[in-house]
Amino acid sequence: MTELAPAPVVEKAEKIIPINHWIGGKRVAGTSGRSGPVYNPAIGRQTGAVDFASVEEVDAAVAAATDAFPEWRAFSLSRRTELFFRIRKLVDEHREDIARFLTAEHGKVLSDALGEVARGLEVIEFCCGIPELLKGGFSEQASTGVDVYSIRQPLGVCAGITPFNFPAMVPMWMWAPALACGNTFVLKPSEKDPSASLYVAELLQEAGVPDGVFNVVHGDKVAVDRILEHPNIAAVSFVGSTPIARHVYENGTRAGKRVQALGGAKNHMIVLPDADIDMAADAAVSAAYGSAGERCMAISQVVAVGYAADELISAIQERIPKVKVGDGMDPASEMGPLVTREHRDKVASYIEKAPQEGATVVVDGRETAPDNGGFFLGVSLLDNVTPDMQCYRDEIFGPVLGITRVDTYDEAVRLVNENPYGNGTAIFTRDGGVARQFQFDVQVGMVGVNVPIPVPVAYYSFGGWKSSLFGDTHIYGPEGINFYTRGKVVTSRWPDPATSKVDLGFPQTR
Ligand code: NAD
Repeated sequence: MTELAPAPVVEKAEKIIPINHWIGGKRVAGTSGRSGPVYNPAIGRQTGAVDFASVEEVDAAVAAATDAFPEWRAFSLSRRTELFFRIRKLVDEHREDIARFLTAEHGKVLSDALGEVARGLEVIEFCCGIPELLKGGFSEQASTGVDVYSIRQPLGVCAGITPFNFPAMVPMWMWAPALACGNTFVLKPSEKDPSASLYVAELLQEAGVPDGVFNVVHGDKVAVDRILEHPNIAAVSFVGSTPIARHVYENGTRAGKRVQALGGAKNHMIVLPDADIDMAADAAVSAAYGSAGERCMAISQVVAVGYAADELISAIQERIPKVKVGDGMDPASEMGPLVTREHRDKVASYIEKAPQEGATVVVDGRETAPDNGGFFLGVSLLDNVTPDMQCYRDEIFGPVLGITRVDTYDEAVRLVNENPYGNGTAIFTRDGGVARQFQFDVQVGMVGVNVPIPVPVAYYSFGGWKSSLFGDTHIYGPEGINFYTRGKVVTSRWPDPATSKVDLGFPQTR
């Protein structure tokens, strides 16, 4: 185990902890004069102040990454692999330290935070196989005496801009493949829960990653927009809400960068009359209320087909009072608070408006929220939700589950396909033929069959369709390796000098 400082016990903090940048292998205090508050949402108090980078501070991080690139890209594959095994070991040993930062600043319960770190670790493990992943092709004797082979090379300095809801895992989706491929990296984490990224920066240094290879700048639009226009940044990965994803994609590509920008979601779970209703109800409750609904793969809308509806709603309703809402550090809690007071109030406003729009509030989470000053909201269930309602159209991103009743499978699929988002979806049925037809019909990037949150394992790639993804490349897995490299094809000949002659014709291969 290493001597790194453990996560601060922020719920007892009496002073505000400064959260700095990480540039060139060390903490660097911000000089812009701007910073943002970081809260412990379980108690509703500010615990940290995160520096907001100026243009010059972003430039300093990019300069450190640019300087570090030549040495890093020249690291042999065996050295990089060895280093990734050390990173894997350190992240594994410090799972709980990382998870405590997540719970302290995001609010998710510690068991869920540990699950987040575990899924990020899977991406690091995938990257331990980088020699195999970067293998090219080789064609001997493509023409007489001519061999052809393909190689993949790193892009240079890459940047990642990440959301508040997975402060450790989503950055790992980016920096792990980027570094494994030989790029250097500048991360701009969410300003709401920035500490885990700094802690991971220390772990990478401890593992032996050279200074400047991994940098963290905190901040807001100023930092993001500088990343998008900086001439030395070759590629940008973004995960966050759809409007900002579109902004990042349009501006990043206009500046000539390779961009993958993952956006928001409205994930539907279709329940057919032949489904195992208890299993579907368990899945709906877990996928709608886990992490207080602040997951891009959360189920926010159930589409109940035919007579499935009544039985399903009462099964969900039965389970709701058993969901324990409380401080994420308390092992008894199953659901923590929302990330900020403003976000909690916005989520609550959907419950307020739902009856005016014609929906039925079956369970009102405003009545069951712990009242201790934290940003809590209990779980809510809305019935008779229709596609014209705001609670259907918007990604609520909170513990509010809507139920829409339809008569047929075709109507259910049409709802999913007409939705502007296309991140995740699931179908619950015992009929393999219908499930197969659903997978064929549905216009969504990640599909679950009796699996409510189908986040792909690390050796596949993650990404939605439509307004859930701007750009062609999904994130991590094989597509992540492609995103962080570009191909080169070499055609070589080692001729006998005696056979050399001038030939102005177009090269032939036969
Ligand atoms: P967000 O879009 O508000 O913020 C994401 C990042 O963009 C942050 O680093 C933030 O600082 C930056 N940002 C915010 N406003 C900006 C602006 N005006 N200009 C430039 N940069 C700006 O998202 P969030 O609230 O942190 O995260 C929640 C959203 O992320 C949800 O919509 C959720 O669905 C989405 N999300 C999507 C996925 C996915 O894989 N598709 C995964 C996780 C989260």
